[in-house]
Amino acid sequence: MAKEDCIFCQIVAGRAEVSKVFENQELLAFLDINPLSAGHTLIIPKEHYENILDIPDDIISDISVLAKTIGRRMIESLGADGINVMHATGRAAGQSVFHYHVHVLPRKRGDRVGFEEWWFSRTLHPTRDELDEVSNRIRL
Ligand code: AMP
Ligand code: ZN
Repeated sequence: MAKEDCIFCQIVAGRAEVSKVFENQELLAFLDINPLSAGHTLIIPKEHYENILDIPDDIISDISVLAKTIGRRMIESLGADGINVMHATGRAAGQSVFHYHVHVLPRKRGDRVGFEEWWFSRTLHPTRDELDEVSNRIRL
């Protein structure tokens, strides 16, 4: 069910302008309006699901395959040297639009995106006991 106040549902309904990259009955891919790099693409299901916990497995799987296809196109057509595929569930993780989406980000060597510097400057340095304690809590 579409949600009236959801910008991505409005995009699916054709009530907001986007630059489309791919569309079929189930999925839509379009350019992010505030890209981190040229070609930064969002893939969404046409149905409204809020996050990774809500979305059915078969749709998440189709989105992953589409991310791979779009990623390959970014390498072939945009000359990307690499691809990031990213997702945020929950405000704490940085989610700002609460309609499930995956970011596909074309990367070039030495580009200004800079996750890598940020990531390595913030990593923790746990002991093996600390790692084991956490893995025991998550283990399925
Ligand atoms: P997130 O922070 O992971 O929830 O990502 C939401 C993304 O949606 C942001 O990168 C926004 O720039 C993007 N966005 C929001 N509104 C629009 C829009 N109307 N068209 C295209 N991208 C949008
Ligand atoms: Zn929606």
